Parts: sequence; structure tokens; C-alpha cells
Amino acid sequence: MKVFNTLSGQKEEFLPQGDEVRMYVCGVTPYDNCHIGHAMSYIIFDVIRRYLQFRGYKVKYVQNITNIDDKIINRANQLGISTDELAKKYIDSYFEDMDALNISRADFYPRATEEIPKMIEVIQGLVDKGYAYPAGGSVYFRVRNVPDYGKLSHRSLESMMAGARIEAGEEKEHPMDFVLWKASKPGEPSWESPWGQGRPGWHIECSAMSLKYLGDTLDIHGGGQDLIFPHHENEIAQSESFTGVKPFIKYWLHNGLVQLGEEKMSKSLGNLVTIKEALEKYSADAIRIFVLSSYYRSPLTYSEEALEAAVSGVERLVRVLSRDDPTGGKGKALDAEPYRKQFIEAMDDDFNTAQALGVLFDLARAINQAGDAGISFLKARSVFSELASEVMGLRLEVLNQISGQMDSNKINNEEIAEMRGEKLEWLLETIEGTVKDPNKDIETVRGYINLALGVRDSLRKEKQFKPADEIRSKLGALDIVLEDTPQGTAWKLKR
Ligand SMILES: [Zn+2]
Repeated sequence: MKVFNTLSGQKEEFLPQGDEVRMYVCGVTPYDNCHIGHAMSYIIFDVIRRYLQFRGYKVKYVQNITNIDDKIINRANQLGISTDELAKKYIDSYFEDMDALNISRADFYPRATEEIPKMIEVIQGLVDKGYAYPAGGSVYFRVRNVPDYGKLSHRSLESMMAGARIEAGEEKEHPMDFVLWKASKPGEPSWESPWGQGRPGWHIECSAMSLKYLGDTLDIHGGGQDLIFPHHENEIAQSESFTGVKPFIKYWLHNGLVQLGEEKMSKSLGNLVTIKEALEKYSADAIRIFVLSSYYRSPLTYSEEALEAAVSGVERLVRVLSRDDPTGGKGKALDAEPYRKQFIEAMDDDFNTAQALGVLFDLARAINQAGDAGISFLKARSVFSELASEVMGLRLEVLNQISGQMDSNKINNEEIAEMRGEKLEWLLETIEGTVKDPNKDIETVRGYINLALGVRDSLRKEKQFKPADEIRSKLGALDIVLEDTPQGTAWKLKR
């Protein structure tokens, strides 16, 4: 497996230090709702984590929450609420968005305000070793003592100096020195420290938390490309100076940024699309496919057309799952192993999700062709389902559970004729119960749905439209959409 490492500027063989991959991704500063840029980054690293697990690695995944910061303090002041209240609101909003996007939860979400002792320990260690100095109640990092400062962003200290200056109120020795501990202003939230009341700087949070939860050397550190400098550069300087262990991070992975048209999507430009806004229009699967359709290191352009293309992509994938196998799983079968191999090859090449998705679409096409040609595709479809759901994190909704299976139950006319009145009520309740229960036998669920369709057809033939429509709307409430075609009624999942 090869991954592109920002530190070396090239693809490298992925060799984690042990059986367990230690992975850290910079988390949110909860002062507002998350936008598509956050969705992109967290979907990408979710898929990377899922893929590592799929390849047999154990993964320990940590994401911090910067719940104290200038932005939080300013916003809370504007709104006249406490920083804790503000942060809590947007942490809840963040988890709501992540769950809606089917992003697996990290193993730990340390919060800055709960990890202050560890940060003070690291800062004190840096002061003791001469890498940091207190001044005016704050503590600054001394970049000149780190000869390889700039190695991640591939810049020299001299080149960074252009335009850099010491701001009023800062008591730095050097313009590039950065703050580890900030003396607090009156009225701001603050914590006690050997240097007086204050709060941690942003960069030290990630060094302290990754050290505490994952150790001196991590395998993967991720984040957006906008974090390379100064945030990640400073994390390296802090962590390696404190522990004396190099490297702090074996593989630095950075995703490209989301653009709206030609411009970067950013709060300052006022062109943000929040995750909640996007989810009002598009399913989580469509948003995931949109993000995964391009190489994670490239910029991603958000547009209605791109999202609509993703929507039809989801429809194509879901359709495969609602097909009946023509043979009942017997006889000649479609071999999905070449597809699985290609999928792994793509993902092994620096997580080329665009190519891997292409393989999924090819497999979907092959399954449809097999179905048309009377060739069994049941095994191939379970490979399809596994890759789509386990690795890409697509839900493909209820049908996901129903896939990888059997011939649909043959329904006879007598059964259908009996399904009226109370029996019909029972059938619809049963469908609801079974669809919502993931442990239920899949064959049963599928059989019931097909039975309901048979009943609806026969009701329509008898011109009993009211109960027929009721079946449609009951199924609709379970996200099962019916499509009447000249060949009969097909069902699929709501996009
Ligand atoms: Zn960070």
C-alpha cells in the first residue's frame, strides 16, 4: 500500500509501526455549523480508516475538539452566552452531521479544556529544554532552536520571515515564534498555570492530545491542506522537541480544499454551504459519492451539477441491490474477484477513491448484464455490497441489508387474494417491523415487500385504488419507493 506523505513530497510504502495504526485528525472548533469542507475532510479520513480496517489493520483513531479559542470567545461574546454553552451547541451539531453522513465515530474525542494539565506538562518540558520561554504571562516557542523547522511546508525560516512581524502586545524574541500559552484578558475563560492565568494556544493542544492518547510517534496525521502551515509545522516542532523522538508522524496526509466555483469556500468569503443545507437536498450517500469521486489531495468543486451526478450514481448502485437473481443462485455465476482486486489496487495507490468507485460502477454494470443474461450474480453482489458499505461507507439504505441474498419468494395468487383488510394491515406492520430490524432474516423482508407489491397490483386491477395507494404510502414511509413500469412494479430506495 502506498500513501502520499506531505513530509517527503512523495508516495511511500505504508509501513505502520505495529499491528495497530495510530491515527490523528485535527478536529473542529465548535463555534458554528460545519460546512462541506468539513464533510470532505472527515469523509476522506473515515474512508481511509475503513479501508485500513478492511485490509486487516486495527486502527486507533483520535480527533480533538478545540472547545476554547479566540473564535469561540468572540462568538460567545456576540451572542451573550458562555463559551461552554456555545461549544456544547456546536459539538452536538457536529456529531449530528457526522452521524448523518455515516462517518464512524473516532475512538476518542479529547476536548481542549479537559486536557489542560497535559498541555502545561508539555509546555513546561519545552521551557526546561530551552525550546520555549515565558514572556509577559504568555509562553512562546523558540523556532530558531529547531534547525529543521519548515520541513513539512518545505519552506525555510528566512522565506517565512518575509512580511512576518511582531504584533503589538506580543513579547516575542523572533517574528516566527508562536504562542504556547496565552495570558488571559480580564473576563476570558482561563486556567491556572506556572505562568499565571491563561489558556493554551491552538497548536499545543494537538501535540499534547496526540502524545497522551497515541504516544510519541503516530502513523497517520491528517487534516486539510490549509493546516500544513503553521498548524502542523508547529505541531512537529513542539512534539519532536518535547519527546526527542523523531519522527512525530510517519505519514502526513492532507486533503484538498472545497471550492465554490473558482473560489475557496470559506467563512470570510461568505460562500459556505453547511452540511445541514446540503443534507436537505441530497442524501448522505450522494454527498459521500460526490466527495469520493475525486482524488482526496485535489481541490473539490461544489456545484449542483456535481451533486446531481452523484445522485444518479447512487441510484445506479441501489438499483443493483433490488434486482432478483435470475437463477436463484444456481448454475453459472458472475465472478467478482477481478473487480475486488482492481478495487484494492486503486485504494492501495494512495486511496484513489475515484478509481475505486469506478470499479464499483463497473461491477454494478456487470451485475445488471449478468441478470439480463440469466447468469447468477448473488456472490458478486455480496462483494459489491461489502466494498460499497464497509469501505466507502455507503448506506444504500435498507437494501444494503437485503443484498447478497437469494431468489425472491415466489408469491402465488391465492396468497395475494387473501391479503385484504386486517390481513393487509398485518402485512404492512410486519414489513415495517422487519425492515427496521437489521437482525431479521433478509429473505423474509424481501419476500414481504414483494408480497405487498403483488397485493397492490391485484387491488389496482380490481380498481380498489384507496388500499392500493395506502400500500404505496406505507412503503414510502419506510423509504421504499415504487415505480410502475409497463413490465410491472419495481421498488427501490429513496435517494
Ligand atoms: Zn491539530
